[in-house]
Amino acid sequence: MDFRFSPEQEQFRESVHRFAEKHLANGALGRAHSTEYPWDVAKLMAKQGLLGITIAEADGGQGGSLLDAVIAIEAVASGCPRSADVVQAGNFGAIRVLAEYGAALQKERYLRRLLAGESVIAVGMTEPDAGSAATDLQTTATPEGEGYRVNGSKVFTTHAPHAEVILTYVRYGPGVGGIGSLLIDTKAKGVRFGRRSRFMSGEEWAQIYFENVLVPGDMVVLKEGGFKKQISGFNVERIGNAARSLALGRYAYEAARRWAMERKQFGRLLCEFQGLQWKFVDMKIKLDAGQLLLYRAAANADRGFPSADETSIAKAFCNQAGFEIANDALQVMGGLGYSQEELVEYCVRRCRGWMIAGGSIEILKNRIAEGVFERSFPQRPRA
Ligand SMILES: Cc1cc2nc3c(=O)[nH]c(=O)nc-3n(C[C@H](O)[C@H](O)[C@H](O)COP(=O)(O)OP(=O)(O)OC[C@H]3O[C@@H](n4cnc5c(N)ncnc54)[C@H](O)[C@@H]3O)c2cc1C
Repeated sequence: MDFRFSPEQEQFRESVHRFAEKHLANGALGRAHSTEYPWDVAKLMAKQGLLGITIAEADGGQGGSLLDAVIAIEAVASGCPRSADVVQAGNFGAIRVLAEYGAALQKERYLRRLLAGESVIAVGMTEPDAGSAATDLQTTATPEGEGYRVNGSKVFTTHAPHAEVILTYVRYGPGVGGIGSLLIDTKAKGVRFGRRSRFMSGEEWAQIYFENVLVPGDMVVLKEGGFKKQISGFNVERIGNAARSLALGRYAYEAARRWAMERKQFGRLLCEFQGLQWKFVDMKIKLDAGQLLLYRAAANADRGFPSADETSIAKAFCNQAGFEIANDALQVMGGLGYSQEELVEYCVRRCRGWMIAGGSIEILKNRIAEGVFERSFPQRPRA
């Protein structure tokens, strides 16, 4: 077993690192506090080949591996934590499901612009009454003529205010077997956004209402029975989520490490106090452990979708670790760490959200427990 990157991966990491230093490090603070989608960064990344890393060359991507995309998130976040979201949107999320299951027409309409950094796609799964219990979703797609009438509502949809299209989970019929997905243009008649609100991270979200939206039949991505496939694709999203947690934890750790080697109190450098050294050691152990779990899940997936078990373990660990590391880094930096002069407080706020988004830590642990005991544990009351 070889834990080192291949020469090609190392070269790729270095080139993305240089790109992040040259183009993204300046302005990182401003980007973190802006509610705008960083379109300038998206276009730069498209030119650099950082969008569609795992998407087949025939579809306009780079034909790389999932681990390459993880490396890109890490290298970008080391210069600009917020820009790592662009790597996520352009590689890990709904874009990957579209590339995998979408029809030629759908790819022609949306994928080219997504890969050019001119557009962004959101995933609409969560509803007011269907959060962790995602299969309780109530948004319906009812056949009408050549297409479907969609009625329902989604909440907490990342990038929705900026998205051109939403990969929307819908119900064609009853039960888990009735769930599938289709593409809804955010400008379509009957799509309405509610009051804008904010997460603790500063990101904006608004409830989306689908009121009798007519969706052409050729915009169906997965028909009824597609839920399992959808969740397999969603595991890619989870890898990106875990990678950003760890990468932002690392960003905060590096900032605090530099600070501890400069800042003096009681006539000594902070790094000379054992109480702080042990904090750094705990951070370092978590970073290394998280990285191994993350790389295992990504490397085993190669260009396919990662396994549910390895993804759940990696995401649960990295979400927890990323938040704890960033939070400890903030503590080490004292008042400065808590201030918006530094990005460390932003890293704490962002990492907190990933403990909930994309399958909360508790829900992932439920999934892992099923593997431990080799049986299922239905969460619903017995009928
Ligand atoms: C930053 C952020 C971005 C998001 N982006 C998107 C997006 O792009 N698209 C989208 O569709 N959704 C998105 N979401 C929504 C996210 O997927 C849901 O918030 C998440 O699934 C939890 O659902 P909920 O908020 O309704 O909490 P609930 O399901 O009400 O859960 C509340 C708490 O109870 C726990 N819990 C629930 N059931 C169990 C159980 N059986 N065992 C143990 N604990 C349990 C949960 O873990 C949680 O801590 C985002 C959320 C956040 C915070």
